[in-house]
Amino acid sequence: MGSVDTRTGRTKKRVLVAGGAGFVGSHLCDALLAEGHAVVCVDSFLTGARSNVAPLENHPDFKLIQHDICDVLSIDGPLDEVYNLACAASPPRYQADPVHTMMTSVVGTRNLLDLAERNGARFLMASTSEVYGDPEVHPQPEDYRGNVNCTGPRACYDEGKRAAEALCFDLLRLGRVDTRVVRIFNTYGPRMQADDGRIVSNFINQALRGEALTIYGTGEQTRSFCHVSDLVKGLLAMMAVEPNPKAPVNLGNPGEFTVNELADLVREMIPEAAGVVYRPLPQDDPQRRRPDIARAKQLLGWEPRIPLKQGLEDTIAWFRLAYEAEKRPIAAA
Ligand code: NAD
Ligand code: UDP
Repeated sequence: MGSVDTRTGRTKKRVLVAGGAGFVGSHLCDALLAEGHAVVCVDSFLTGARSNVAPLENHPDFKLIQHDICDVLSIDGPLDEVYNLACAASPPRYQADPVHTMMTSVVGTRNLLDLAERNGARFLMASTSEVYGDPEVHPQPEDYRGNVNCTGPRACYDEGKRAAEALCFDLLRLGRVDTRVVRIFNTYGPRMQADDGRIVSNFINQALRGEALTIYGTGEQTRSFCHVSDLVKGLLAMMAVEPNPKAPVNLGNPGEFTVNELADLVREMIPEAAGVVYRPLPQDDPQRRRPDIARAKQLLGWEPRIPLKQGLEDTIAWFRLAYEAEKRPIAAA
């Protein structure tokens, strides 16, 4: 697989990252290029931003293709690996066009699997903790089959990802593609879209604007937050591990926080925040979520290193820079 770089002696691979202009995808593109690989980034810019990969556009080993994976794609040249991160991840964003969200995970994943099969490429599917729905088992191990409402507003995302997992394991059993599946839990960090509606980006941006933080429901529901740099190491480890685990692997930070606790932390770190306001809880919002990462530790030797407060520091600094850059022209006017 790949070609040997005579200068470094390392194997240089050609890697496709679908969703590579998104929050997680752009960090993955950075990491792959830093390891000396060539990257083909495929993205429709639905929820990602060209600015996330703008610094890479002059890199000789980086190629950007604007494309919706629901349409068949062909790529010139060989591919060694395909990462499928293409899919809106924020609930308001993936619910805005639920049919497209479902098709992205089903038809889009099928198109990428076909591409991987034609190239003999290894394939990694970015699935989600949402396959556990509103879990009745806590923390969630991979063999828990979940509690998803298949007719609710989150189903387009949850069921789409479950179908994508099924496709991956079918092609693996058929011996047609070397597929791997990770189930990602809530991830945060620089380059989240400020207005994508997720909790970390909402709270930080509300605080920076001097607004009250919007807490949905009682705020006693929990989530576990993983810094994007930890997650990317897990993605790379899952793609590289031998032999193929032939089973999904949770990637997330087991530190569990209530929404109220996160609001307190953000208010402590951004003093401009103006208290909190309570809003209705969205339908089917999971009450508790925390990954059991025993499998990731055992198979990949992976566990997250960055505690929430430390990880929020670079995230806040990044949003603060963006917020101040946005304010500057207004102040000048
Ligand atoms: P994101 O919305 O920032 O990135 C998704 C990217 O995919 C965007 O650049 C978007 O433009 C692109 N995209 C969406 N639909 C597409 C399509 N049909 N064709 C081509 N490109 C398309 O989200 P993210 O947080 O970076 O998430 C990346 C992946 O990880 C997603 O698949 C998501 O389901 C999964 N995931 C993320 C989290 C998280 O907390 N960030 C948690 C669980 C799973
Ligand atoms: N949430 C909130 N205020 C916000 C955004 C989200 O209280 O401004 C809550 C949301 O209801 C959920 C949790 O925070 O309970 C995490 O939401 P997010 O959209 O980040 O991701 P989810 O894990 O639900 O996909």
